[in-house]
Amino acid sequence: MVQKPVKTHTFNGVKYEIDIEPIWGVTQDPTPKKYMPVVRVVNGLPFGNRRGARTGLDAIMHEALHAANFNAHEETVERVAREVSKLLWRLGYRRIK
Ligand SMILES: [Zn+2]
Repeated sequence: MVQKPVKTHTFNGVKYEIDIEPIWGVTQDPTPKKYMPVVRVVNGLPFGNRRGARTGLDAIMHEALHAANFNAHEETVERVAREVSKLLWRLGYRRIK
């Protein structure tokens, strides 16, 4: 099965552009509503058990949590992303090609 690239995703009723760039993760504030906000995740998001795959899972979880609740405190986002991504990793969830 060929997976289509993910270009957008809706969080909390707001449609975000999903952007893969070779920089750190960032989520834009959706409130200006002048543009489609962006969830930007670090380049690569490695597959399977490759180096950085678990960090990539944590990074996308982190940015998704910001998008779902942009006013959440950074410490809470960091903790929840770490806890949930750790659980998913332990359960065997991995990115596949
Ligand atoms: Zn953050």
